[in-house]
Amino acid sequence: MPSSAPAPLTLPTLNWHTLSELEVIQQITGTSGSLATLSETGLSPALVKERQEQYGPNELKAKAATPAWMRFLLQFNQSLLYILMVAGTIKAFLGSWRNAIVIWGVVLINAIIGYIQEAKAEEAISALAQSVTTEATVIRGGQKLKVPSRELVPGDVVLLASGDKVPADLRLLSVRNLQVDESALTGESVPVEKQTGSLPEDTPLADRQNMAYAGSFVTFGQGMGLVVAIGNDTQTGRISGLIEKGGSLETPLTRKFEQFSLMLLKIILTLAGVTFAVGLVQGQEAVTMFEAAVALAVSAIPEGLPAVVTVTLAIGVSRMAQRHAIIRKLPAVETLGSATVICSDKTGTLTENQMTVQAIYAGGELYRVTGTGYSPQGQILQPETATAVHPQSLPGLQACLLTGCLCNDTRLKLKDNGQLEVVGDPTEAALIVVGQKVAMEVEELQRRYPRLDSIPFESQFQYMASLHRLGPDEHCIYVKGSLEALLKRCQTELGSQGDIQPIEGDRIWQQADYLARQGLRVLAFAQKIVPPTQETLDHKDIESGLTFLGLQGMIDPPRQEAIAAVRSCQSAGIQVKMITGDHVLTAQAIAEQMGLGAGQAVQAYSGRDLEQLSPEEFVEAANQGSVFARVIPEQKLRLVEALQSRGQIVAMTGDGVNDAPALKQADVGIAMGRSGTEVAKAAADMILTDDNFASIEAAVEEGRTVYNNLLKAIAFILPVNGGESMTILLSVLLGRELPILAIQVLWLNMINSITMTVPLSFEPSTGREMTRPPRDPKANLLSPKLLQRILLVSVFNWILIFGIFEYIEQTTGNIDLARSMAIQALVMGRIFYLLSLSQAIPTLLGRGRASQLEQHERLMDTAAIAIGIGGAILLQILFSQWSLFNIIFDTAPLSWGQWGICLAVSLPMIVVSAVANRVDPN
Ligand code: ADP
Ligand code: MG
Repeated sequence: MPSSAPAPLTLPTLNWHTLSELEVIQQITGTSGSLATLSETGLSPALVKERQEQYGPNELKAKAATPAWMRFLLQFNQSLLYILMVAGTIKAFLGSWRNAIVIWGVVLINAIIGYIQEAKAEEAISALAQSVTTEATVIRGGQKLKVPSRELVPGDVVLLASGDKVPADLRLLSVRNLQVDESALTGESVPVEKQTGSLPEDTPLADRQNMAYAGSFVTFGQGMGLVVAIGNDTQTGRISGLIEKGGSLETPLTRKFEQFSLMLLKIILTLAGVTFAVGLVQGQEAVTMFEAAVALAVSAIPEGLPAVVTVTLAIGVSRMAQRHAIIRKLPAVETLGSATVICSDKTGTLTENQMTVQAIYAGGELYRVTGTGYSPQGQILQPETATAVHPQSLPGLQACLLTGCLCNDTRLKLKDNGQLEVVGDPTEAALIVVGQKVAMEVEELQRRYPRLDSIPFESQFQYMASLHRLGPDEHCIYVKGSLEALLKRCQTELGSQGDIQPIEGDRIWQQADYLARQGLRVLAFAQKIVPPTQETLDHKDIESGLTFLGLQGMIDPPRQEAIAAVRSCQSAGIQVKMITGDHVLTAQAIAEQMGLGAGQAVQAYSGRDLEQLSPEEFVEAANQGSVFARVIPEQKLRLVEALQSRGQIVAMTGDGVNDAPALKQADVGIAMGRSGTEVAKAAADMILTDDNFASIEAAVEEGRTVYNNLLKAIAFILPVNGGESMTILLSVLLGRELPILAIQVLWLNMINSITMTVPLSFEPSTGREMTRPPRDPKANLLSPKLLQRILLVSVFNWILIFGIFEYIEQTTGNIDLARSMAIQALVMGRIFYLLSLSQAIPTLLGRGRASQLEQHERLMDTAAIAIGIGGAILLQILFSQWSLFNIIFDTAPLSWGQWGICLAVSLPMIVVSAVANRVDPN
């Protein structure tokens, strides 16, 4: 915003709940329009624009939870840094100021790096979470539109439906069974039933039934309201503590890492104490021994590691985002890597959600439908003759098609590029298309039979109904939904010639099963003629007395990339289970096509089957089955719990209002970015921007890569600490000069380690991540194999430092040179070791991960390692060749020949690395 822009206006904070609907409309829209006209037209686009300029965006300006200086100070709160600070202080007391300043400098640098990394990571994560925009449905300029919530202005007419997040503070003007979960605002966990009409002034916030407050969620029903406050003027905005801050950076791994540091600290302190004592007993001077103890402590601490952990996690988050998985909570990055079961929705996630009606059962006849996709080309074929039929001559078929068109909230729009776009639900789009194939046009039908009221589809009820005026003295309710939901409400059925007959449930069930077994999604249709006095519609109006009209079966092909992703998950030791509201036979057929049984027959359970089971049987079924159909949301939750009770790490997808508990319970809750409700998104750890199962698999792969890269960083850093501490310990025991000084250790552990380790965070996947079983989240950070590797390389480092120091010291008598050469040899060995851990060389040789990354990206990853190594070499040259550094770090310049010696003695590291890779293949 340019600085000259006037400060946004704020609305007068009226007690909106005390005003009548008409007063509210007058106050806020400045018109004296009636409720009816307002709900038809809303604000004009011009007025909206004007108000957007006046009032600014509908956004909460988040206040940082902890002030910056506090977050900076918290950086010092690490046990490893305590040791350094104490060591520095004692050094200062002993008068060795240069050492003290360097040690403090290191602590400070560490804190600054930590602070910057953390701030960046936090920013990146919250920016990603915000990139998933919330939308609101509004009426503006006489049209129903979806707009980003941030564009709302006071006076906007907002429509609420179940699953929506209330986008601003609203004064409700009409409601239908509207229930809102206001727990974020009031702490009350039971949803509140909303009403209209004015309330007394002293009504507390929690009881203002005629208001819906920003940040709460619609759990049921529908409503319409006027925006009375936006952004920071909303009730949520006033209570700053409610503003969602960027998620915490703590994860199971960072916690494990802290424990690890603490253990290290204890070992170090003990060792340092022992070193000090041994030296004294041997009759050495206390000051010398103190120097040794500090050097030991400093050498054993991997100072560079915390920075690397944060960077690696942050990079993982951004890589996942590139692959359509947005992380809302950082721990999910790791948990994903250890998932053992993925429970996925079927429609739209495993399948294309591109529905085409292929079969119609009406008037006792089964018709086939030709054509593909949403194209209106195609015909309805007579079963025996396979000739095209005209529904005009078949009232039974016609009624079935008509219901599909009228009981429908979806539109097909022609886009500029000539393609059709579905605005609404693909299931409903398919019903429109089949109508077009026999010249039934939705718009015309809707005009001829105007809709008076409707009940939208909700998974919970499995049906949708709408009420239409057929003529001056005849209204009709049209219903469509699952056969289970509809058949029990039907007493009669319509024959092919429009004759009403008693219903034959068994035959209809047989037909439905026959269609479902072919993988078709089956919808049933029914109607009920009502007197013209009926103008509104309620669930109880369709409890019974319906006339069954027919079935339509539509195909929804599996996504090709999801089939591949399922296979990849299976080879990675992850079971994939399908959870769906669809019919069990349809689900089973699709699951077979997608290979969900992993070579075996797919075991399928319906929600009804599950209900019959004892608790033990339920756990068994949850673990054995791969398809769970017609499940209700509570059963989703139970499934997650049953799987977890067997030690599984569960990732679960969800999109509906009622999925939130299951998403929260799952180890990784995954919400759909496109089709998901705001409620589901708010409960999830991760959001898929493309709703595609393949993106879950990609996120798992990245999650595993992140963990591997962290292990690589540990495998890289710790052997240097090991080598250094062994050297110092041995020298003290033998009563020799220290081959490496505390200050030089700090250089190695901070400067050199960070330059060379951070590039490991950028390592791409090896392509082998998905060929291994999931990691046990309870396992130790350092596996026995990793420990062996660290020990092996540590010993080599130790021999290198100790050997070259003693040799040069004895042959030249120049102790500074001996130390410098020991360090240079160590770093050279380190470069070879780094190359053995990294993907860079296999990548350059064209091996390694084959497909996902573009060539260019591969080179970028290699570039990170090259830059790291190049930077390290440059710094090492300065370290021993620059006179200033010679003074600070007690180093001495090397001759060409001496550089050659260092290189020569470091070469065996190539063999050591190869052995290490054998011991602990990464
Ligand atoms: P899923 O998304 O797992 O396929 P849904 O809950 O969307 O499951 O659908 C469950 C059942 O509800 C479907 O098998 C179908 O019979 C019915 N159904 C789905 N969409 C609609 C709709 N728009 N209108 C009426 N009924 C529907
Ligand atoms: Mg669905």
